[in-house]
Amino acid sequence: MKDSGGIYIAGFEKTRETKAFLKKFFKDKKEYHYSSFKNIKTLSKALSDSQYELVIFELAKGINGLDSIKGDIAKVVLISHDIPKGLREIVKHNIDTYLLPPFHEKDLEIKIKSALSRKSWFRELFNERRDLEAIIELSFLVTSTLDPKEVLYFVVKKLSEMIEVTRCSIISIGFGEKRYANVVSSFESPEIRDIKLDLRKYPEIRKALKTKKPIIIEDAINNPIMRPVKKMIEPLGIRSIAVVPIIHRDEVIGTLFLRTSRAGRTFSEREIYLCTAIANVSANALYNAFLFEKLENERARLERLAITDYLTGVYNIRYFYHRLGEEFSRAQRYGYPMSCIMMDIDHFKRINDTYGHRVGDRVLREFAQLVRRHTRKSDVFARYGGEEFILLLPQTPVDGAETEAKRLRAYIKKHKFKIIQSRITTSMGIACWPVHDVTTSDDLITLADHALFRAKSMGRDRIVISSKKSKKIKE
Ligand code: GH3
Ligand code: MG
Ligand code: MG
Repeated sequence: MKDSGGIYIAGFEKTRETKAFLKKFFKDKKEYHYSSFKNIKTLSKALSDSQYELVIFELAKGINGLDSIKGDIAKVVLISHDIPKGLREIVKHNIDTYLLPPFHEKDLEIKIKSALSRKSWFRELFNERRDLEAIIELSFLVTSTLDPKEVLYFVVKKLSEMIEVTRCSIISIGFGEKRYANVVSSFESPEIRDIKLDLRKYPEIRKALKTKKPIIIEDAINNPIMRPVKKMIEPLGIRSIAVVPIIHRDEVIGTLFLRTSRAGRTFSEREIYLCTAIANVSANALYNAFLFEKLENERARLERLAITDYLTGVYNIRYFYHRLGEEFSRAQRYGYPMSCIMMDIDHFKRINDTYGHRVGDRVLREFAQLVRRHTRKSDVFARYGGEEFILLLPQTPVDGAETEAKRLRAYIKKHKFKIIQSRITTSMGIACWPVHDVTTSDDLITLADHALFRAKSMGRDRIVISSKKSKKIKE
């Protein structure tokens, strides 16, 4: 690391004359910090330290050694003896900043400047090419068939490879949403997604949204924009912040959000330019991510709707039959037991008659939710129709089902229904597989129904187990 301004130059000179020449040359030049190295080994070791920007190398008698100067450091070669051989060397190494004797200070000055500017020009070209390649790569990526969120993750990943930052995220702004923004992708970790940001704590993002222009904060602690949140950000050790808006059809739909740490540096013009280009490229991907998410949510909602009973919020009978079929074939294949509990609210008609149908509806909902809360996740609880419900218990033999039915019946019995401020009872019929004569899952339902019918005729508020004899389960 450089500890002061100026250009650090490493040197290797062999002859006394050249030594004296360079000593005189650098004597009053404050802009250069010159260090001379005794041999090529120490020189090349020193060059691996990034502080040097240029090397001055003397090619004297018997010296080649240009090979050992690795890396793309700027070079000025002083050929002091054996000029033809020296010239061959510099051609071989593609060096065109060299001096032939007699050496003049003016010439050296020009050569140093030209070697440095060529180097920085090359570096710029190299960076520009790298940036362009990244932009092209990302433009291909955003038109690919990948999940848009994955695309956005690649964008932040690429960006943080190219710009040294401590944080790099893409933030999405919902349409019409003013207070919150979402982190849709973050370089720290692909899992950091869908985190809500309270925009009151991010004046820099608010400003970018308002102006639709990149906001660059060089010194986060002392910038007036950050004053309202100064106390909050001070402990975070942030040095610089860049917020680059992502605009789709004239509307800011998100931003790139980059930060460097206090130990780090601020953003260069090239980096901001790169961010802006990448923000433009990402606009479609971010927009697609919006649509994708909306579609996903809608699909999930429709799916939920298709398997839910509209009144009670538990599974509907269609879904129940679907799961019953699956579980029944699994039970047959692996020889698992399974049970079904059919339940019917006792004298439900009276509730309707006393309080009205709408109150009846609410009692049904409360009943269904109560039972669902007390059943296992692996069980399937559905409304069979009217005030009848059915519970499927995979991998549960008859005694397990009986225990479960007793437990549920007790919960129901002691529950006071809010809207009617009274309690209700249920009758239950249990059927289990494997039993004789049961060959289809429908047979199982019929048996449970019969058992329920018997519970009703025996006076209600009770549990009856289907009397068909159990078959022995395959071991
Ligand atoms: P039991 O003890 O024999 O089961 O008597 P019950 O009154 O519960 O049975 P019954 O079959 O005679 O009547 C069922 C009642 O459930 C009649 C019907 O209006 C009512 N019911 C069915 N579906 C709904 C519904 O979606 N909402 C409301 N509020 N009532 C319903
Ligand atoms: Mg009933
Ligand atoms: Mg009924």
